[in-house]
Amino acid sequence: MAENNKMEKIISLAKRRGFIFPGSEIYGGLAGIYDYGPLGVELRHNIKQYFWQKFIADREDVYGMSAAILMPAKIWEASGHTELFTDPLVECKICHERVRADQPEAIADHEKTHKKEKVEWTEPVTFNLLVESKLGASEKTATPVYLRGEITQGVHVNFKNILDSMHPKIPFGIGQIGKAFRNEITPRDFLFRQREFEQMELQFYIKPNDAEGDKWFEYWKNFAFDWYLGLGFKKENLRFRQHESDERAHYAKDAWDIEYQTPFAGWKEAWGIHHRKDWDLSRHSEYSKVDLSYYDEETKERFIPWDIECSGGVDRAVLFVLLEAYTEDELGGEPRVFLKFKKELAPIRAAVFPLLKNKPELVAKAREIYSNLKSNFQFQTSNFHFDDNGNIGKRYRRQDEIGTPHCITIDFQTLEDDTVTVRDRDTGEQTRVAVSELAKVV
Ligand code: ATP
Repeated sequence: MAENNKMEKIISLAKRRGFIFPGSEIYGGLAGIYDYGPLGVELRHNIKQYFWQKFIADREDVYGMSAAILMPAKIWEASGHTELFTDPLVECKICHERVRADQPEAIADHEKTHKKEKVEWTEPVTFNLLVESKLGASEKTATPVYLRGEITQGVHVNFKNILDSMHPKIPFGIGQIGKAFRNEITPRDFLFRQREFEQMELQFYIKPNDAEGDKWFEYWKNFAFDWYLGLGFKKENLRFRQHESDERAHYAKDAWDIEYQTPFAGWKEAWGIHHRKDWDLSRHSEYSKVDLSYYDEETKERFIPWDIECSGGVDRAVLFVLLEAYTEDELGGEPRVFLKFKKELAPIRAAVFPLLKNKPELVAKAREIYSNLKSNFQFQTSNFHFDDNGNIGKRYRRQDEIGTPHCITIDFQTLEDDTVTVRDRDTGEQTRVAVSELAKVV
């Protein structure tokens, strides 16, 4: 398969099979905005659940939280975003389209549209990415607010609340998942660069010294890498890359990315691990006039902790998981397309089929097995499908295309010995399994 086609095939499959739709499509869409359909929302939920489990729930030293999206402008002054959260923008002098100057793909794409003329760009100017809004019932009293440009600040401004309510012992972390908004100059590459997207993050607070900083930075870099591998990536498709000093964000002492080898533009950022030092807590102490220091009972010291941050994009993870899972092969002499999701991430855990639609005893038995499976997995992220439409071969193919790991078929033998066939998505092999064993198998 030509790798540059893969993205188009995934965009088309994602829309056709209910994963991801262009935002507000019937009104002509909105650049850089996407809506998640029934299957996409399950896939995204499973990725977020896996983050929550590994970074928060499984650990004794990390707390979860969820901050609001709207925050006063002053927070973004304190964090440096009002002044420094910018990208360089250039404008085409022929058609006045504006493009991000440091995105070679966007520049090249634009230059192709003026093949015959010589493209001339304006000098780069800085463009702030924060999305502004207003709150208040009248023009006069309305106050400017920002939709958060990153979810990070919602954690830092609650640092004192977490100290006062949970009394954590340093080092400790606070994790959250939530939406962020950026007025990206050139949203592109499907879910990769959106204007509204979701982030999953950990802020890990440590004692302020270089040895601690180096130790924890290394620890979280490797932790985030292993977590990413756990989504089902081949190791050779992921790598680390350290930021050059001139590319680091304004707050960063050191910064590394975990990158994924994309078919559309080579190595691209999936996660950032940032050494933010005491930047955020010091600035919020200064701007809010609230003391955000930590008192260490053991050493009797008071200090502003340093922060090691792991910041990942949920939607980029969804896109990269789709790219990694997309497979074309041949089964039974026929070409097929399937999504080879890791079992735990698949939107549908298993599909249940009565062999024939017009045999009430098969349909009743299939319904019973389907309901039992559903109730077995209550409160978990798993989801099951019931399908009696069309021939079995077609039903298999439909499930392959959405990445369902197992298809369970109820036939006449089931009525005699309470066994079913379980078909494996990747190999197409079918095995006979006792109904009592089904929950374990799927
Ligand atoms: P880039 O250099 O690609 O613009 P960034 O370095 O600005 O990204 P961060 O501010 O470190 O990104 O954000 C943390 C994570 O949030 C990124 O690793 C990425 O996964 C995700 N992310 C950032 N911007 C976007 C976007 N516009 N659309 C989707 N995900 C994004």
